[in-house]
Amino acid sequence: MNDCIFCKIVNGEVPSYKVYEDEYTCAFFDITPITEYHTLVIPKKHYVNMFDIPEDELLSLTKAMKKVVSLYEEKLGLKNVQLLNNSGKYAQQDVFHIHFHVVPRFPKDGKDMKLLRNPALRDRFDKLLSTLAD
Ligand code: 5GP
Ligand code: ZN
Repeated sequence: MNDCIFCKIVNGEVPSYKVYEDEYTCAFFDITPITEYHTLVIPKKHYVNMFDIPEDELLSLTKAMKKVVSLYEEKLGLKNVQLLNNSGKYAQQDVFHIHFHVVPRFPKDGKDMKLLRNPALRDRFDKLLSTLAD
């Protein structure tokens, strides 16, 4: 993908702060971090998001996330982390090359993200489940 910023990072056409790399994936600091060491983990091949990435590539991505988290655990003593993926425009995806955010969390970092819950949807669980039946 010629115009993809993350493909350009993979190819070295755009600079980045890489913290991990293997045959299938790489990980680098997010340019607008939420917290220190906020990292993006991506496949080297271009996939848009969770809907088109093949299972084996997702497995490699998951393994790379574990490597990054383990690195930060070992080097920083990290004990709290949030792993986030946005897939699709209405799921707040901005860069359309799949990535997982590894967001280290620190005591009182002031970055708590609370999604608005809708407990009233419980009333619809039977109906929702029925749409998934054969
Ligand atoms: P999304 O909203 O798609 O889940 O997240 C995209 C992320 O990519 C954002 O957190 C944004 O800061 C990051 N980002 C966008 N452009 C660049 C870039 O050129 N370099 C780096 N390192 N991160 C980027
Ligand atoms: Zn790409």
